[in-house]
Amino acid sequence: MSNASRSTERPNSTSSLLLYGGTVLTMDGGFRVIRDAEVLIQRGRIASVGKTLTLMPGTRLVDVTGHLVIPGLIQGHVHLGQTFFRGLGEGRLLLPWLKERIWPLEAAHDDESAYWCALQGAAEALLAGTTTIQDIGIGPGARGLLRGIEESGLRAIAGKCLMDVGEDLPEGLAQDADQALAGTEALGSDFDGKARLQYSINPRFILSCSDALWSGARDLSDQRGWPIHTHALEQKEETEVVRQLKNGRDEIEYFDENGILDTDLRIAHGVWLDDPHYSRVSGKSFSVVHCPAANLKLGSGIADIVRHRRAGVPVGLGCDGVACNNGFDAFEEIRLAALLQTVKHGPDVFSGREALSLATSEGARALGLDHQVGSVEVGKRADLVVLSLDRPEMWAAKTVDPHDLVCYSASRANVRHVFVDGEQLVEDGRLTQLNMEDIRREAEIARGQLVRRSGIEL
Ligand SMILES: [Zn+2]
Repeated sequence: MSNASRSTERPNSTSSLLLYGGTVLTMDGGFRVIRDAEVLIQRGRIASVGKTLTLMPGTRLVDVTGHLVIPGLIQGHVHLGQTFFRGLGEGRLLLPWLKERIWPLEAAHDDESAYWCALQGAAEALLAGTTTIQDIGIGPGARGLLRGIEESGLRAIAGKCLMDVGEDLPEGLAQDADQALAGTEALGSDFDGKARLQYSINPRFILSCSDALWSGARDLSDQRGWPIHTHALEQKEETEVVRQLKNGRDEIEYFDENGILDTDLRIAHGVWLDDPHYSRVSGKSFSVVHCPAANLKLGSGIADIVRHRRAGVPVGLGCDGVACNNGFDAFEEIRLAALLQTVKHGPDVFSGREALSLATSEGARALGLDHQVGSVEVGKRADLVVLSLDRPEMWAAKTVDPHDLVCYSASRANVRHVFVDGEQLVEDGRLTQLNMEDIRREAEIARGQLVRRSGIEL
């Protein structure tokens, strides 16, 4: 496999860094905002927030006066393996979108195409202030995808996408259950704990996974301690087919009765999660990842995340794949999340700062990472984004709540610096570790070959 993406080695992780002069949106339990603050980073962690009295010799100083400092954005549901498919699946509901476009394209991936596809997606994510992803993976090419994610510098939960049954599946996409489970365990053994990657078990959704695959995924999760990440309750039409296949049960009923709800389960979408489900998921390790742009684009509906949260379900946020978004800007999802709950509940129920929490503090909780990331607090990993206020869309009265400014007015255009574990991956709006020219050149070649292999007529 080609490998020319990284331009330099990682800097010494023991180095110290001081960001000074910025306004810090801590996203801690009290949503504290600290103006003219200093954030000291040592050995990849936040060592202090506020005023720093003594500095170690050799500490690098970064002037962020006139900027906002926010936690790195967390996307709980993405498909970096679909980055090449931007614009290739327009005008379809979920099931035809999968069968006519996404599955033939995914079946055509190999390790080489998936590697560059992952790096293109990672480059877009990092430049837009995303520092953590939970990626549901692909089938063929999964090893290349994981290698791209591992090398990207992103913090990631990722695994292979598992499928063993279903109508209209192209050859190569489905494996029998034992083979799929053995394959994912082998990949997990290789990648779990490498760089910033944690492994997860990713059955695609009920319609593409047999009972044997689901029970095997549950057992593997028990044995290895890996979470399960899947899609559920995205479209009504999908749930109707689930009911036909599973003796009248919907997704949550099926998961409950088959012990899947007893694992650490994260579902993407949950658009149709509703009252009868809340009692089943109560007390479980269960979260929903809200993907508002993808839900709008595929005509799925509007998830009632205010009610999900009132029922105690942690809610994260994600762009899903660019094949149904078609971008990778988490700021857009934050804004959409806030606007759509306003449509459902009125303008005073779901604030800008709550919307921002879905991609920071609560998003971290939804992925079981809240002990590590999601807020600017002492002891957490130094995953930080510095937003410039130079562009006119960020000019506002001093009394404006900066959370509202980020939620409603910010975009990737305002991202100036991005740090993961204190390592600067974006500086002045440019990638420092990934070589964008290499990725662009290789991605273009790999994308063309993949589309040809897929055999779909565009
Ligand atoms: Zn998805």
